[in-house]
Amino acid sequence: MRLVILGGGESGVGTAILGKKKGYEVFVSDFGKIKRNYKEVLNINGIAWEEEKHTEDLIFNADLVMKSPGIPDKTPVVKNLVKKGIPVISEIEFAAPFTNATIVGITGSNGKTTTTMLTYHLLKSAGINVGLGGNIGKSFAWQIADNKYESYVLELSSFQLDGIKCFKPHIAIITNISPDHLDRYEYNYENYIDAKFRITMNQTEEDYLLYDADDEAISAWLEKHTTKAKLIPFSLTKTFSEGAYIKNKKMEIRINQEEFTMDTDHIALEGKHNMKNAMAATSVAKLMQIRKATIRESLSNFQGVEHRLEKVLKIQNVQYINDSKATNVNATFFALDSMNTPTVWIVGGVDKGNDYHELMSLVREKVKAIICLGVDNKKIIDIFGNVVDMMIEVDNMNDAVHMAQRLTEKGDSVLLSPACASFDLFENYEDRGNQFKQAVKNL
Ligand code: ADP
Repeated sequence: MRLVILGGGESGVGTAILGKKKGYEVFVSDFGKIKRNYKEVLNINGIAWEEEKHTEDLIFNADLVMKSPGIPDKTPVVKNLVKKGIPVISEIEFAAPFTNATIVGITGSNGKTTTTMLTYHLLKSAGINVGLGGNIGKSFAWQIADNKYESYVLELSSFQLDGIKCFKPHIAIITNISPDHLDRYEYNYENYIDAKFRITMNQTEEDYLLYDADDEAISAWLEKHTTKAKLIPFSLTKTFSEGAYIKNKKMEIRINQEEFTMDTDHIALEGKHNMKNAMAATSVAKLMQIRKATIRESLSNFQGVEHRLEKVLKIQNVQYINDSKATNVNATFFALDSMNTPTVWIVGGVDKGNDYHELMSLVREKVKAIICLGVDNKKIIDIFGNVVDMMIEVDNMNDAVHMAQRLTEKGDSVLLSPACASFDLFENYEDRGNQFKQAVKNL
């Protein structure tokens, strides 16, 4: 069997290693450059590869193709493969049959990483032999080749899910759905929603789908479609006889005739959105029968993930918060919502079709000044220009942070939550967040 892998990054190389181990004839082809360390791994394992080209003769003789999630379906080589009837699948589809581990799969527009990390933390602290993968860290396929985990917590993008045929997680989570990446879905929101719901398409009555019951797109989909999985909703506003919710400042989880309750004040993560993430992760822990005391301890000591509402420093009683990962309006909505002091808001970058009106009432209520940090800030200025007292444009992080400091007084906060991608002024969101933290530390 000839396995051709498109893309020589983390998931491509992981698949190559697993494929080789399972007896496939493996070839890796990348239209860009392959990183040096990955080339070394391929060479050490005797795996053939090419870079900066796709040689048709070496690709179209494949029995099976694994396409890395970063490569769009509309790429000519992918289109041609599909036309020839050669199966094109994603890494998780290829890898899953080689393990009997219990799989928790987490998708959604926002909150995937936080929920994945928290779920992993809950399971690991309970002594489960668990792996963490998908969009985070080491690839799922690579781990299956190298380790023997009894469970995996996987962060799954819609791109990973596009390439599945039989893959099914035992427990699936859809954290929420809001428009994102529409360029990859023919600018059709329905297509993107359907892609997220592929996470449940192969689930059976034995499996579970955990979802945000406050989310309109999710509720609308569930009204129109069916899934065999057992549904476990979570909500900030409703209560359920089976599900998770917040009532009187307590998180309550009712699953399989059991109940778990915890004061939200004792949960280390802050903000409403994080209560949703905590409900989802805790529901998984309950389904996996983790002891209440262990769950409580883990929820009270999980400090969150870098660049997601990360508290950086308090200087002269002003709190600086790094939410650089907020690359869409929905993420920023929850960031602003969680602020309870007057806020100087640093926003802007590459806008993927944002509708800022959703933020209007929060901005009126909480934001005293806006610092626009993007190449083109016109949309933000037009919408919020008359809403806040002060609006300033800058073109680098140092100026943004210095300006912010000047505009604050004791008790205020400075929030970097850009609602935009970072590529106009930064390498990526991590670079943006790191520059923010460095500038704050230099103050
Ligand atoms: P993802 O992996 O889906 O991008 P992250 O956990 O990295 O999600 O969070 C991305 C951004 O979304 C951060 O700014 C974070 O504060 C915000 N966020 C986290 N959880 C949620 C949620 N449940 N709903 C909305 N926004 C969220």
